[in-house]
Amino acid sequence: MPELSVIAIDGPAGVGKSSVSRVVAAALGYSYLDTGAMYRAVAVFMGDAGISDTDSTAVAHALIDLHLVLAPSEDGSARVLINGLDITNRLRSPEISLASSRVSALPPVRQKLGAMQRQIGETGRVVAEGRDMGTVVFPDAAHKFFLDAKPEIRARRRALQLQAMGQRVDEAEILREIIQRDRQDSKRRIARLRPAATAVIIDTSDKTQAEVVRMIIDRVRAA
Ligand code: C5P
Repeated sequence: MPELSVIAIDGPAGVGKSSVSRVVAAALGYSYLDTGAMYRAVAVFMGDAGISDTDSTAVAHALIDLHLVLAPSEDGSARVLINGLDITNRLRSPEISLASSRVSALPPVRQKLGAMQRQIGETGRVVAEGRDMGTVVFPDAAHKFFLDAKPEIRARRRALQLQAMGQRVDEAEILREIIQRDRQDSKRRIARLRPAATAVIIDTSDKTQAEVVRMIIDRVRAA
């Protein structure tokens, strides 16, 4: 039975999923679920607790005390709270990017977050963005997309984005991080990064964000 109101958008680091998903959700009147932010929040939590993000047993134990909340914010993204504390501004550092990729390979983490994500999906009309939305969390989603682009192009986009925000950037460093995360995310044993069998694969290399958004919305409306 297809989950008619879930749109799954997966793809590698820095491909522009978040921006595209937010715009698609706003245009269709759907809510937007950023599952990467959830894995990032777990990485922040484990780091603060001094727990190694490769120690599955310690992480599983610590997860019992983690209460994660996604609170809607005005721009359509979410504020992320762990045990009542807003940690949204800490989610995007390069260290947390890599730590979230490590912690996301652990089965207890995926179980806890996957269950939360399914619960949110059940409310309907959700654009869910991540690595395993179409393959694991919402295998029956009626619409599945997989965005892709070469690592160099993703690094360039990320660098321009950060520069526009007034930050100093090292593009070569961004590229290294993207390649490392791609490797970790696509080689892990569970929920590895890959397109669902029925996903529409969109190579965004030569496309603007607006063009990608249009392709997705046209597909959804045509169905
Ligand atoms: O999408 P974002 O870059 O914020 O995700 C951070 C990390 O969280 C990814 O590198 C990936 O390892 C992990 N992730 C995941 N499954 C998801 C979303 C994110 O494993 N559905």
